[in-house]
Amino acid sequence: MHSSNLQTCGSAPVLKERGQREVFCGLTSIIWLHRKMQDAFFLVVGSRTCAHLLQSAAGVMIFAEPRFGTAILEETDLAGLADAHQELDREVERLLSRRSDIKRLFLVGSCPSEVIKLDLSKAAERLTKKFAPSVRVVNFTGSGIETTFTQGEDECLAAMVPTLRESSERQLMVIGALPDVVEEQMRSLLSGMGISNVFVLPAARHEDDISVGPNTLFAATQPFLGETHSALLRRGAHHIAAPFPFGAEGTTAWLKAIAGAFQVPEQLFEDVTAAPYARAKKAISQAAAALEDKSVFFFPDSQLEIPLARFLTQECGMKAVEIGTPFIHRPLVQPDLDLIPAGPTVSEGQDVDLQLDRAKEQRADLTVCGLGLANPLEAEGLTTKWAIELVFTPVHFYEQAGDLAGLFPRPIRRRMILNQEAAE
Ligand code: SF4
Repeated sequence: MHSSNLQTCGSAPVLKERGQREVFCGLTSIIWLHRKMQDAFFLVVGSRTCAHLLQSAAGVMIFAEPRFGTAILEETDLAGLADAHQELDREVERLLSRRSDIKRLFLVGSCPSEVIKLDLSKAAERLTKKFAPSVRVVNFTGSGIETTFTQGEDECLAAMVPTLRESSERQLMVIGALPDVVEEQMRSLLSGMGISNVFVLPAARHEDDISVGPNTLFAATQPFLGETHSALLRRGAHHIAAPFPFGAEGTTAWLKAIAGAFQVPEQLFEDVTAAPYARAKKAISQAAAALEDKSVFFFPDSQLEIPLARFLTQECGMKAVEIGTPFIHRPLVQPDLDLIPAGPTVSEGQDVDLQLDRAKEQRADLTVCGLGLANPLEAEGLTTKWAIELVFTPVHFYEQAGDLAGLFPRPIRRRMILNQEAAE
């Protein structure tokens, strides 16, 4: 979809596709959310398939006290909704009577619970009344119908927004679950700039009392938080639009937008960011040398595609041929789109067969895709990178910039070795 009079992807036409999709469901988000929220329990109301998905996504982790589980809907539940509610109440009672460490309980909807129209918001209300004030019960959906796996986090955070305390204080809220070490780095950069009233949603513990109101400014660290963005606007908060904090340039642009909103003096901004910026630049140039002039094709999967395409094209010298993403939340990703030179096809949604045809025709040096497509594409001789790995790896902010860049040359090197071996 090349057009010579368009400067960037920000105003490029979008190829919208509504066909068969190849993605994981939102239950997957529970894997990183439960690590972040240390007093929360995620109770999936679903089938044995959902339980199995969670188990395999969690890998071999074995917890003495697991913080997620599945309340299995049996076939008989399909017949009697009243019974399903009673059974859920019993299950929750059993769980909470054993586990005083649980302060937040999330009832997570699934395809089966949605098919039988089990109203989990009613259940959450009923159970909140019963267990308040020691436990707050909130519901959200992780269902796989027409969703992708990062939407689970968006649904979870959006469900928490109406429960937040009202406040008129001027403060910064950062939305998006980050590994603790990365969150600490971010807090230290912000406090270095004199911004101290900072809350992160999701908080590690329920007593990290987050509030929201008309003087709350918020910034997102993940591009898939469209519902949370809307829920915060409804509470009167204001969004600070910025490119996402990937790489040296992305991190600087993200911090700069916040610094502007909080009137941080230019010199102070420079003093805080100059050294980590230089470190990040150096780390990227070392890690990304093998990416220069290579082409990249994104299948829609994690919703990180647009900011990653911005990082790879602007900071690593790559050329994007297609940037496919499940949904384009313009208020969140427009600043990144505006930084990607025009040329690649920007596609939203998926018609997997058509997109596979395009990928095979383009034969990019690197194809970023979901797990389900990686093997068939590798069999076609294409080099692939699993998008899901990017959600499980610390990749945000300056200190991780080199690691982020380093994730992409690995499959290219592996392919080169394979090709060499085949030639010998
Ligand atoms: S929520 Fe739906 S897509 Fe996800 S594991 Fe359960 S049945 Fe499968």
